[in-house]
Amino acid sequence: MDTPVTIQSVLKEKRVFKPDPGFVRQANLRPTEYRRWHKEAERNFEQFWARRAKEHTDWFTPWKKVLDWRLPFAKWFVGGKTNISYNCLDRHLEGPNSWRRNKAAIIWEGEPGDQRVLTYADLHREVCKFANVLRSHGVKKGDRVAIYMPMIPELAIAMLACTRIGAIHSIVFGGFSAEALRDRILDAKTVCVVTADGGWRRGQIVQLKKAVDQAVEGDSPVKSVIVVRRTENEISMTEGRDHWWHDVMHDASTHCPPAKLDSEHPLFILYTSGTTGKPKGILHTTGGYLVHTTVTSKYIFDLKEDDTFWCTADIGWVTGHSYVVYGILANGATSVMYEGAPNWPDVDRFWQIVDKYGVTIFYTAPTAIRTFMKWGDEHVKKHSLSSLRLLGTVGEPINPEAWIWYNRVIGKGRCPIVDTWWQTETGGILITPLPGSVHTKPGSATRTFPGIFAEVVNDQGEPVPPDQGGYLVLTRPWPGMLRGIWGDNERYRQEYWSRFRGVYFTGDGARCDKNGYFWLMGRVDDVMNVAGHRLSTMEIESALVSHPVVAEAAVVGRPDDIKGTAVAAFVSLERETKASEELRHELRGHVVKEIGAVARPDDLRFAEALPKTRSGKIMRRLLRDIAAGETSVGDTTTLEDYSVLARLRESEEA
Ligand code: ATP
Ligand code: MG
Repeated sequence: MDTPVTIQSVLKEKRVFKPDPGFVRQANLRPTEYRRWHKEAERNFEQFWARRAKEHTDWFTPWKKVLDWRLPFAKWFVGGKTNISYNCLDRHLEGPNSWRRNKAAIIWEGEPGDQRVLTYADLHREVCKFANVLRSHGVKKGDRVAIYMPMIPELAIAMLACTRIGAIHSIVFGGFSAEALRDRILDAKTVCVVTADGGWRRGQIVQLKKAVDQAVEGDSPVKSVIVVRRTENEISMTEGRDHWWHDVMHDASTHCPPAKLDSEHPLFILYTSGTTGKPKGILHTTGGYLVHTTVTSKYIFDLKEDDTFWCTADIGWVTGHSYVVYGILANGATSVMYEGAPNWPDVDRFWQIVDKYGVTIFYTAPTAIRTFMKWGDEHVKKHSLSSLRLLGTVGEPINPEAWIWYNRVIGKGRCPIVDTWWQTETGGILITPLPGSVHTKPGSATRTFPGIFAEVVNDQGEPVPPDQGGYLVLTRPWPGMLRGIWGDNERYRQEYWSRFRGVYFTGDGARCDKNGYFWLMGRVDDVMNVAGHRLSTMEIESALVSHPVVAEAAVVGRPDDIKGTAVAAFVSLERETKASEELRHELRGHVVKEIGAVARPDDLRFAEALPKTRSGKIMRRLLRDIAAGETSVGDTTTLEDYSVLARLRESEEA
C-alpha cells in the first residue's frame, strides 16, 4: 500500500508580487543582506542570534553561553543580565539616542475620541512610579501580577513596571469573564491585580472591576487590587485591598533603577486564546524574548525612526505583548494604541485613525480584513490612507481573496504585505516575508525568518516532498520560544515535544512549495478525513470565500455513516445578499469547481455570524458539535458572543 498522503492540499495560488524597487532601496534588510543572513544562520544559528542580540539589545552583564539546549528545555544568552523596561525606555533617554526623550512612544486614542500621547520620558517616569507602587504593595521579584484592563496607556505602564522589578505579569484579556479571570489568577497564584473601573466598547462600559470583585471573592491569593479610573462608573472598593491608581501614584517616587535580571528570569505568563481547548499558561522569559521581538520588529516591519506603527491587536493577546509594546518600544518607535471597537461610532473608525495620526505601518488580523470587506469599500474610500507604506496580518491563514483586497483597497497596490505566522508559544514571528527581500504570494506566509528552522512532515515525522501537506514542525530552538507551561512541565512535553522526536510540533498543518514557501492550512485538529481524503477545512473555506457573495465561511467535519466524515459548511453572506435554495446549490457547485467533488459540502447552512473567540478566530470545535447535532457544546469561556451559538442551532439545515 502507498503511504497515505498526510494532508491533501488543494489550494492553488499562482500570483506573485515583487517588492517595489523604491521600497527595496530603503529597506532595513535588502536582498543581498537577506541571503547573507540566511547563510550565516545556516552555518551557525546560535552565532547568528548572538550577533543580532549584540546589535540590537543592551545588557548589564554579557552572556557566557548563547544557548543551553536540553530538549525540550532551552536557555538563551545564559549568564547574561538585562532588563526589558531598560531596553524599551532608559536607553532612549541617554547616550546617542537621548533625543528620543520627547519622541512619542505611545499615541493613544480612547473609543469616545479622547487622546493622550506619552513620550519616552513620560512613559519612563510613569513606569518608574508604578514600579515603586507595586513594591510598596509588597510585590517582589518573581511574584505574579494579573493585569485585567482596557486598552489604555496604564496597561502598558503596568506591564513595563512589572518587568522593571522582575515581577511576572499575566495579562488577562479585558473581554474575558470573571470566571476565566479567576481560573487564571488561581493557576498563577497572582498576588496583585491591576484593573480599571471599566473600559469603553461600542459605546458601552465593560464592567471590569465588577468582574475582578467576583474573581477574587473568598479564598484568593490576591492581596491588593489597583484600579485606574477610566469610565467613572459606580464601583465598590474594598477597604484595605482596593486602591485607586491615581491615589497610589500621587506620591510615588520617579526613581526606580531597573532590576538586573537573569536572561532566563520569567517575564510573563500568557494563557493561549483557547480555540482548541483548556487554556494553558505559556511561560516566556527575559533575554531571548527581548532579542526575538526587537529584531523581528525592526526587519519585518521595516521600522524607521519616523514611522508610526499601529498593531490593532489587544495587548491581552500575544500579538499585543510583542508588537504593540515590547518589540516596538525596544526599537524606539512610535506605537499607536486604540481602546475600542472598529465599528464605533462608524465602520470607518480604523481608517479615520490611520489618517489622523499618519499611520505608516498597519498590522491586523484576517478576520478583521474580511469584516472590512463585508462592510464595503465605500467606507474605506472616504479616507486617503496615503501615509501607509507597509501592511501586515497575523492570527489565521489569510485567504487569497482577502489578501488581494487588503493589497488593493487598503494598500492601494503600493504597500508590501507581510503575512506573519507565529503563536503565543513562539513569542515572536517565525515565518514571514521580509518586505524588501521576499516576493509574496497571496495566502502564503512565505519563508522562515533567518535563524528559524521549520519543516513539513508526515505522520512518521519524515519530511514530505514539496507541495504535499503535512504537519508543521520547528527543528531547532529559537530565542523567543516558550520555556514551559506554568506549573506543568509534563503537559509542556506532551503537547509540543511528544508527537515527533526531537522537534517542536506546532499543531498546524502546512505545505511547502518548490520555492520553500510555507502555506499554512490551519490546525491539524481541523483536518477532516472525507472518504479517504484528508482535507484542510481552511482550503474549503477559502474556496467558499472566493465566491463574491460570501463574507465568511467555516467548514467542519460531521460524522457520516458512509463517508466517515461529511463536509459541513457554515456561511455568512455579504450584506444585501439573501439566502436561498438556489444560492446554496450554487455555492456547493462553486466549491466543486474550485477544488473538486471530494470537497463538496454535504451540509451548507447560512449563518448571520460565526462563533469566534475574542481575538476573532472561528471556534470550529463548537461548530463541529453543532454540525453533529449535539445539544451541549464544550468549553465556551473564550467565546465572544454567546447568542451566536443559539442562533446557529436554530439555523435550518440543508
Ligand atoms: P489555542 O492554542 O489556545 O487553541 P490559538 O492557537 O488560536 O489558541 P494563538 O497562539 O493566538 O492561539 O494563535 C496561534 C495560531 O494562529 C497558529 O498556531 C496558527 O494556527 C494561527 N496563525 C497565526 N498566524 C498565522 C498566519 N499568518 N497564517 C496562518 N495561521 C496563523
Ligand atoms: Mg495554539
